[in-house]
Amino acid sequence: MTFAKRTAQLRPEGAYQVLARASELEAQGRNIIHLEIGQPDFHTADNIGLSGIRAIANRKTRYNPTAGISKLRAVIAADAGRRRGMAIKPEQVLVSPGAKPNLFFPTLALVEAGDEVIYPNPGFPTYRAMIDVAGGIPVPVPLLEENDFSFDLDAFDKLINARTKLIVLNSPSNPTGGVMPSSALAHIAAAAQAHDCWVLSDEIYTRLVYDEGVAHSIASLPGMAERTIIMDGFSKTYAMTGWRLGYGIMPEALAHRVQLLFTHALGSTAHFTQIAGIEALSGPQDHVAAMVAKYQQRRNLIVNGLNALPGVQCRLPQGAFYVFPNIKSFGLSATQVANLLLEEASVALLPGTDFGTFGEGYLRLSYANSIVKIEEALGRIENVLRRL
Ligand code: PLP
Repeated sequence: MTFAKRTAQLRPEGAYQVLARASELEAQGRNIIHLEIGQPDFHTADNIGLSGIRAIANRKTRYNPTAGISKLRAVIAADAGRRRGMAIKPEQVLVSPGAKPNLFFPTLALVEAGDEVIYPNPGFPTYRAMIDVAGGIPVPVPLLEENDFSFDLDAFDKLINARTKLIVLNSPSNPTGGVMPSSALAHIAAAAQAHDCWVLSDEIYTRLVYDEGVAHSIASLPGMAERTIIMDGFSKTYAMTGWRLGYGIMPEALAHRVQLLFTHALGSTAHFTQIAGIEALSGPQDHVAAMVAKYQQRRNLIVNGLNALPGVQCRLPQGAFYVFPNIKSFGLSATQVANLLLEEASVALLPGTDFGTFGEGYLRLSYANSIVKIEEALGRIENVLRRL
């Protein structure tokens, strides 16, 4: 069978492949610890869940406006604007089923075949996929361990040019947990304006930052709101991955164009899910703070545990729920080490190369798991690595 060329470069997400192998081992009776999945182990808070249930009982189960119901768009505009210190109008907000459509469709609306798109490597695999499908030319910028995995700005300066249409940023980052410092954002903002390009800022982990840090949005810098798409959502902050609820914030004219793509590709986002989203943003936020405190405890535990292993070095990431330890000293590829740890230690984690070539020499571990499981995983990893 032959398929359209625009789909030829698409690859599955590595996490799903590792999950499939881990499930096979579990079916054989093995006790696997899952550190490969990028999903909160917490449940959606009851006030949010119940508001969704009530909305279904109240028959909020029909088609509704493509861009989202007006109350949710207004609540998102107010909340996102307040947190980022900028004015956002409800008309700039597009609600989507999960955040991913607000990566894919703005890219389709902006990128012509042959336009260059700068994106982080290692980075979330959807960036490469959406660039390929749009017919853009992917231009990866390395994230450097010595910069706590912020952009390599020297490489960035060499890569940006008149053909660059879009720059994709992700802070805090999946897979590294790195948060871009304000100085890097200012540097990229100046370059984006000088070269007249757009910025797509994936801010899905913006509320998951530690040590009282803040992940700033490039959109709040002078001259940037008119060329930035903010992508954010409910999956991580409110432990709502399966509800599928996210949003994009962009200049109104672009929102109109992207909304047309939504109309034909998505129709609308479930009404009852949006009602739960209003409750998430308007209701008590103490459960978010409690979750962040727990993630911070786990982060400290896993980073200290990994650094105590011979041959492993791990930075202390400032955000998200991932660590990205350096395992170059073993002289094996990241895939070889990840496979060995799954097969021999029964710990599922991902090779850094699942996020791009510059992930070689690193592993990604998600600490969205309990302290007990993380401690046990560290012990198992140590037993296998000591034998190498
Ligand atoms: N962006 C990043 C960096 C992510 O890690 C994820 C989910 O893993 C998403 C976007 C997508 O979020 P959603 O599940 O709301 O579509």
